[in-house]
Amino acid sequence: MGAIQASRGTRDILPTEVGYWQYVEDIARDILHRSVYREIRSPIFETTSLFERGIGEATDVVGKEMYTFADRGDRSLTLRPEGTAGVVRAYIEHNLASTGGVQRLWYTGPMFRYERPQAGRQRQFHQLGVELIGSYDPRGDVEVIALAHDILKALGLEKLTLYLNSVGNTGDRQRYREALIHYLTPYKEDLDPDSQDRLTRNPLRILDSKDPKTQEICQNAPSILNHLGDASQKHFDGVQSLLTGLGIYYQLNPCLVRGLDYYTHTAFEIQSEDLGAQATVCGGGRYDGLVKELGGPETGAVGWAIGLERLILLLQQGRTSPSLAPDIYIVSKGDKPESEALLLAQKLRHHGLKVELDLSGSAFGKQFKRADRSGAKACIIIGDSESQNGTLQWKWLDTGEQITLSREEVLSDREFMQRARHKV
Ligand code: ATP
Ligand code: MG
Repeated sequence: MGAIQASRGTRDILPTEVGYWQYVEDIARDILHRSVYREIRSPIFETTSLFERGIGEATDVVGKEMYTFADRGDRSLTLRPEGTAGVVRAYIEHNLASTGGVQRLWYTGPMFRYERPQAGRQRQFHQLGVELIGSYDPRGDVEVIALAHDILKALGLEKLTLYLNSVGNTGDRQRYREALIHYLTPYKEDLDPDSQDRLTRNPLRILDSKDPKTQEICQNAPSILNHLGDASQKHFDGVQSLLTGLGIYYQLNPCLVRGLDYYTHTAFEIQSEDLGAQATVCGGGRYDGLVKELGGPETGAVGWAIGLERLILLLQQGRTSPSLAPDIYIVSKGDKPESEALLLAQKLRHHGLKVELDLSGSAFGKQFKRADRSGAKACIIIGDSESQNGTLQWKWLDTGEQITLSREEVLSDREFMQRARHKV
């Protein structure tokens, strides 16, 4: 019988790769904590109607990509295709608004969309996202954009571009919608089938069609930025001048839309030149209508989500894997040395070092080879004579320099311990 393989569009993240994931999570967590964002963990599946209402029935995600199933009690459930709807549901359900002020939340975890798998596009993928709920202030838009900017920068990513747009408020969009339909209707036959379908249902979404012919037609379409009312223009001007004030460079892109009624004002994406077709690493915007749409009070909110697979593809292009190597690799042979080595490993770990203990019991030569391969900075050797003298051999694996030390000396010499540590 053949072995079973991982489902199409899913991937194992193996121990050799997981260092990238932990590295990204550590850096992001640190930056998010400094802006006092708190983690929220919502369920992987939710009632289907949450996404139908929260994302919109006219979108690809709801129309074609959801993993929806009936459970044994015949409830319609859906594996979450994104994080915002669940977070907003939790915000309303637990009345987080009652604490007053703004809720700053972040999440990370797997999302599910039935899409054609390719590089940077999977059926189970991972996002890290933030939601700032409870403010209409343009400083909120800029706060979340600055977070994404800082996280990507701290990861050493370059050649990223922030594209910015405003989709205004419902009134602006209504006027723009008419102008757009007016412009596109004569080209109807040349649009891709999805876009033809959207011409009356959701024409704004046509602007982000990936079809080349449709894109060409959209080049000369009227711009939403010429249809913003005074209040929307003021908000957008505020966002732009605050970004400039923070030294965050952006490019306006009037074709960048989130085509749903409760998306408002700012829309943005961060794209990389190095990702081919799947160029967008981070997408987000303001969604002042969503909390109300899902049954809560009228509430301003803004957020984004980073696609972690795409982010990690970029990291892998640029640098070697963050080290998961031990600081110290311990080899030992013989009953007494082996139990002493176990004790020493434990003590060193309690001093904060990463220690790997060779359990093979094989000849020293073989253990040394594994020590070299482990990437450790130093190797500790305990054989019969070290055991008799209460000493150990300490070998720096980069230089080969080897010295005899007492066990106490190792544990009490701070400088020595510091040198043994891998820089993160
Ligand atoms: P795309 O246009 O690439 O399909 P999207 O507009 O559907 O993106 P969002 O819903 O805004 O994407 O999700 C935010 C981010 O999550 C994307 O910019 C991307 O980095 C990532 N992402 C979305 N779908 C997938 C997927 N199927 N596989 C991997 N990453 C994804
Ligand atoms: Mg998509």
